[in-house]
Amino acid sequence: MSFQFQLYIDGQFEAGAATFPSVNPATGQAWAQMPEARTGEVNRAVEAASRALTDSAWGGLTASARGKLLYRLADLVERAAPRLAEIETNDTGKIIRETSSQIAYVAEYYRYYAGIADKLEGSHIPVDKPDMQVWLDRQPVGVVAAIVPWNSQLFLSAVKLGPALAAGCTVVLKASEEAPGPLLEFARLVHEAGFPPGVVNVVTGFGPECGAVLSSHPDVDKVAFTGGPETARHIVRNTANNLAKVSLELGGKSPFMVFADADLQSAVNAQVAAIFAASGQSCVAGSRLLIEASVKDEFLARLVERVARIRVGLPNEMETEYGPLCTERQLRNIEGVVERSVNQGAKVLTGGKALERDGYYYAPTILDCTGVDNAESIMTELFGPVLSVDTFSSEQESIEKANSTVYGLAAGIFTTNLTRAHRVSKRVRSGVVWINTYRAVSPLVPFGGSGLSGHGREGGFAAALEYTTTKSVWLRTSDDPISDPFVMR
Ligand code: NAD
Repeated sequence: MSFQFQLYIDGQFEAGAATFPSVNPATGQAWAQMPEARTGEVNRAVEAASRALTDSAWGGLTASARGKLLYRLADLVERAAPRLAEIETNDTGKIIRETSSQIAYVAEYYRYYAGIADKLEGSHIPVDKPDMQVWLDRQPVGVVAAIVPWNSQLFLSAVKLGPALAAGCTVVLKASEEAPGPLLEFARLVHEAGFPPGVVNVVTGFGPECGAVLSSHPDVDKVAFTGGPETARHIVRNTANNLAKVSLELGGKSPFMVFADADLQSAVNAQVAAIFAASGQSCVAGSRLLIEASVKDEFLARLVERVARIRVGLPNEMETEYGPLCTERQLRNIEGVVERSVNQGAKVLTGGKALERDGYYYAPTILDCTGVDNAESIMTELFGPVLSVDTFSSEQESIEKANSTVYGLAAGIFTTNLTRAHRVSKRVRSGVVWINTYRAVSPLVPFGGSGLSGHGREGGFAAALEYTTTKSVWLRTSDDPISDPFVMR
């Protein structure tokens, strides 16, 4: 094990209070030592961010100068994408094909928000009083705690850091303890880009100490969180301390709806990507197939045939299409859910077990849950490669089944009927709807959920406003002296 990563606090790299090993999920062996931030390190990071907020080196920069720093960071991310992808693949087991293309695109998020930095305008108010000028100054919201999970972490941090830095905030970014390597490496790029000390701090450590101290710190003004609903409840409780503004991007159980009039082969390919890309460890995984009953047999036959051809392999090899899960805990959890769902009546169409090889591999799995009321696999987010199938016989039933979930993050609709696509997309409860496509993202387009999938939107122009607040400034323009001190003006 040769790699040793460091924390980044107040412009300095440091070892942390202790170290812990990070495991390569493809081998089950530790491949790097990670630094642990405990209370002391987190407090110092927040203090540094708090100082930097008003220091002239950052607080005194023009918005255009902030934008230039973000453009520089974007270029550095693009250049470092192959190295970051290699680290992410080692740390998370996510296949190199996906990490390399996703990280290269992350640079576009920083570019998009770089361009927004000097467009976050204030306004003038034609106030209803004579001799007064009133304007709204747009100000950064303050110190941001950005807390992210282990998957797609460069992407999930870009949608927080991009708008936060464009707005003039400072940030303490907490990487997941499961795979912090990519974000600790990213800290080197922040340093190289020339952000003043304390503007961006990158720490990692365990949720109950590092995450809890950070999200409850009195100097934190906003917590931007991505992760699971259980952790989100901790975040909400922690912010009872500092009353920080909170955004929550949580999990999903997204319906993938296929109507009989759809281009079935296209839908099969999209369904494979929706649930088996990243071995199902995606918040938007299309994990509930709702198929119109009249085409169920044909669709499932094509799907099972396509799944059999997925190339399972080592994640760092370019030809590999399917890799391991990130943690052994996750592997055991999925084994348990699948076993219980089968006991409830679900039928295994393919997979249904761990693969016999080193590392944390679970077979791409399809469970037919038709007619099984409330099978565990169809009710809860598994964050793994398990597709649960149900059928519908009418448009109304497809919408009712799509909405019979506590989540509301994403939905896929496959149909060639244009008017139906409009009707169904309007009535499905989810923050994102993809019609005849799935998993498309862009820095220009808001992303987020409702229900147990959280609230708030990331991406797009409005997300930058979420990192600002306004200051109402009153100026009396009369030269006459103020005569009566006991009258409100
Ligand atoms: P998680 O909730 O276990 O951890 C997320 C982060 O929260 C980690 O950095 C962790 O250390 C921290 N944390 C844990 N306990 C904490 C506490 N008490 N206080 C403060 N912070 C704490 O999530 P995970 O298992 O790493 O990731 C998987 C989950 O993330 C899934 O539910 C997935 O759907 C969700 N996710 C959502 C999106 C989205 O954009 N909606 C994207 C990716 C992942």
